[in-house]
Amino acid sequence: MVLSFKFECQACCSHTQARAGVFYTPHGLVETPRFMPVGTLATVKTLTTAQLQATGAQMILANTYHLHLQPGEGIVAGAGGLHKFMVWDKPMLTDSGGFQVFSLSKLRKITEEGVTFRSPRDGRIIELTPERSIQIQNALGADVIMAFDECPPYPAEWQYVAASCDRTYRWLERCIKAHERKDQALFGIVQGGVYLDLRQKAAASLAELDLPGYAIGGVSVGEPPELIEKIVKATAPLLPREKPRYLMGVGTYREMARAIAGGVDLFDCVIPTRFARHGTAMVQGERWNLKNAQFREDFTALDDSCPCYTCQNFSRAYLCHLVRSREILAYTLLSIHNVTELVRFTQRIREAILSDRFATEFARWLDPAPSSDAIGSC
Ligand SMILES: [Zn+2]
Repeated sequence: MVLSFKFECQACCSHTQARAGVFYTPHGLVETPRFMPVGTLATVKTLTTAQLQATGAQMILANTYHLHLQPGEGIVAGAGGLHKFMVWDKPMLTDSGGFQVFSLSKLRKITEEGVTFRSPRDGRIIELTPERSIQIQNALGADVIMAFDECPPYPAEWQYVAASCDRTYRWLERCIKAHERKDQALFGIVQGGVYLDLRQKAAASLAELDLPGYAIGGVSVGEPPELIEKIVKATAPLLPREKPRYLMGVGTYREMARAIAGGVDLFDCVIPTRFARHGTAMVQGERWNLKNAQFREDFTALDDSCPCYTCQNFSRAYLCHLVRSREILAYTLLSIHNVTELVRFTQRIREAILSDRFATEFARWLDPAPSSDAIGSC
């Protein structure tokens, strides 16, 4: 087993900050840029890991907060860790639980020590501290684990976000001390809300810690999408070039393309499986509602250029029928397609960067969005 983590940059775009690279982990490599599907409860909803592997996914996520509440990290560790528990032998990442504590829980109290909240499952009081988050993630056993941070809401006052960033930095130092496994890489998270000065200060101080990877967090929390690009452009250049950069919670075509142009390597988002559960297919930059009558007698493939199992075998009419009948297979077939679609989108960008065609081939996504594009596009 390879115990060290390494990021190799293979090619840089000559017009943007985009780069193609390889991130090596103990469970294999991740070719970047790459979209990572989210398996909240150690399952990417409705997909077996064999189906997931066929989508081209190389690294997937699981959520520490959800797994701590159910089934508990002790059970996952008892199974031999997340990889064995869910039968996925490729790279995995767990988040710190911070984002869910701040977005889902009835927050009780944030102190210097950590966060105390009421479990939405059974009402019991849970305390999550930097040390506890790392202990849980050490027990879960993913290849990449994330520092415990505060994700400030949007909007929030500069003074609040500044104090929160300082505390997140002190929490990071405690995470580094608490982390015990050399076969797991601990990534730090740049916070700072929509304040570019705070983002830059956080990025510069994190860069000095020489961590194996860096994330930009606290975006996609309700701020206008164009701010995400500004945050990436202000932050990514301050992070070490020889380490992977991960933009948390972003997975739309335009935002990924623009963040890649700003120098980001990894992405995650629940939208491909969430859309699938709503009967929505992501097709070449558009969202299609398969319930629509226009698909009832359409016997063509969802996307005949897509290599996925769904597009290679089934018609739009069949998918429309399954969605209208609320058949479980609808959600599996649409998840297979949607995950494949987003992974392929980042793979195509990767190939374009390797041959220095990214800025021209993906100009559609890099140019400012026309206002008419706001409806129906992803
Ligand atoms: Zn497909």
